[in-house]
Amino acid sequence: MDLLEHQAQELFAKHGVPVSRSRVADNPDEAYAAAAEIGGRVVIKAQVKTGGRGKAGGVRLADGPDAARDVAAGILGMDIKGHTVHRVLVTEASDIVEEYYVSLLLDRSDRSFLALASRQGGVEIEQVAAEHPDALARLRVDPGAGLGWTEALRLAAGAGLPDDVRDLVASVLVRLWNVFRAEDATLVEINPLAKLADGSLLALDGKVTLDDNARFRQPGHPRYADAHTTDPLEARAARKNLNYVKLDGSVGVIGNGAGLVMSTLDVVAYAGERFGGVRPANFLDIGGGASAEVMANGLEIILGDPDVRSVLVNVFGGITACDAVADGIVQAIGLLTGEGEKIDKPVVVRLDGNNAALGRKILAEAALPGVISSDTMDGAARLAAELAGKGA
Ligand code: GDP
Ligand code: MN
Repeated sequence: MDLLEHQAQELFAKHGVPVSRSRVADNPDEAYAAAAEIGGRVVIKAQVKTGGRGKAGGVRLADGPDAARDVAAGILGMDIKGHTVHRVLVTEASDIVEEYYVSLLLDRSDRSFLALASRQGGVEIEQVAAEHPDALARLRVDPGAGLGWTEALRLAAGAGLPDDVRDLVASVLVRLWNVFRAEDATLVEINPLAKLADGSLLALDGKVTLDDNARFRQPGHPRYADAHTTDPLEARAARKNLNYVKLDGSVGVIGNGAGLVMSTLDVVAYAGERFGGVRPANFLDIGGGASAEVMANGLEIILGDPDVRSVLVNVFGGITACDAVADGIVQAIGLLTGEGEKIDKPVVVRLDGNNAALGRKILAEAALPGVISSDTMDGAARLAAELAGKGA
């Protein structure tokens, strides 16, 4: 889960990383009140999960409460790279002398963590890395040992940071490591880490990605889930513990196993080329169990997607045999119709693998309206794509 800047700043503050005084505002009047409370010049910043807000006009100075209200009115509702601004952060303005970059991230290829630092902050770090690779210092961080003061200082020196700020940057890095470890993050980034006129350092922008796999031991984190930026269907699926990702096509896809579902998406997209570019509407992996309840939850989410015109259920029976899955589908449709759900979109089912023949027999005997069996993955994908292409 990616956090908004103000949420990242909250975690920074919790672990002693220096941040500006700030308040969030959801409308211009709240921005006025925030600016009045902070006093003096403020910076109004769009809260969207994308970088380059400054260049897009989403970070602007305001001289006082009245200006803050006007500037916030201009930024709220703005579209920045496809993200609508629903909230701004009002922060105390700082006198910046220099801008640096520091971050910590999970390095999957090395099975370790990586600390990065650069003297050239403020700009997009990808650009620095591409144009001046030497300007980005890297340090491998052993997950067990963590990032200590000595290593942090070595990184600050390696990045060519001025002598007078190295100690301060090192202490920010150690605190940033505490954020990273204690909050179970896979990325923490400060850009810019600003040096102010009085010589102090301030994290002026923050980016944090939390590891969703650690949610079970982070009771404070679910509140960071942002209702505005999460797709409503994805939010519903998450509440049902389903592995669902909304896509932009019209064939709803349910399968068991992430690999099978990924291949199903490819096969649907390929088959869909013959029917006017029909594409999959989602990724949904119901896992190994495929019980009636899980199947019903999955079908309910997919049938509730107005973009869906046909559904493809693609199951390869393994430990859970196809007859159990077929029972699950029959019961799921029974459950949904019982709840008053209209199954008005064709559902193509392909069962293969363990006990496929029995599973197909169960479906045939149930003779559910709108449910069509197809024996092969290609055939099923073609049929689902064709039905979606024709669909109302
Ligand atoms: P980004 O463009 O999305 O990365 O947003 P940032 O939060 O990094 O802001 C972009 C730029 O705005 C920073 O690099 C700073 O140069 C500038 N900026 C942000 N906060 C302040 C501030 O308090 N005072 C001044 N003078 N500039 C600021
Ligand atoms: Mn930035």
